[in-house]
Amino acid sequence: MCGWPNPLHLHGPPVGHSWAARAGVTLVGDAAHLMPPAGDGANLAMIDGADLGLAVAAHPDDLDAAIATYEQTMFPRSAEAASESAAMQEMLYGENAPHSLVEFFTGAATPAN
Ligand SMILES: Cc1cc2nc3c(=O)[nH]c(=O)nc-3n(C[C@H](O)[C@H](O)[C@H](O)COP(=O)(O)OP(=O)(O)OC[C@H]3O[C@@H](n4cnc5c(N)ncnc54)[C@H](O)[C@@H]3O)c2cc1C
Repeated sequence: MCGWPNPLHLHGPPVGHSWAARAGVTLVGDAAHLMPPAGDGANLAMIDGADLGLAVAAHPDDLDAAIATYEQTMFPRSAEAASESAAMQEMLYGENAPHSLVEFFTGAATPAN
């Protein structure tokens, strides 16, 4: 196996991505809100599943009401996480990296190059 790094692109929908309600269908986890890795994705996927399960339990005879309840919680939560994740990505790989990362850890301003 080659020991060289294998750079890969990171893709995802824009921050705040959502969709119009569709009867009987929704998405959870990365399928709903793929974002750059910042330590939240698995947690979001699990809480999405838990929230959807709770919503279905609260609306056992109305799946669309359950989906609407879940999506009202999931969309703003994932938008906030995606925004934080985008900021993290900018800090790690943006124009001012790695100085932005050093500044994050030290709290000190650093020169741009
Ligand atoms: C490099 C990296 C580091 C990360 N670090 C962290 C971290 O530290 N903390 C954190 O919380 N998150 C982290 N994440 C994000 C986290 O891994 C994901 O957000 C999380 O796994 C999403 O869970 P999911 O169930 O939505 O999707 P997935 O875990 O991708 O699960 C989807 C499953 O569906 C299967 N599948 C796909 N298509 C089909 C099909 N047609 N039929 C049947 N099965 C199918 C796939 O094989 C897969 O098993 C990281 C991600 C990356 C890439």
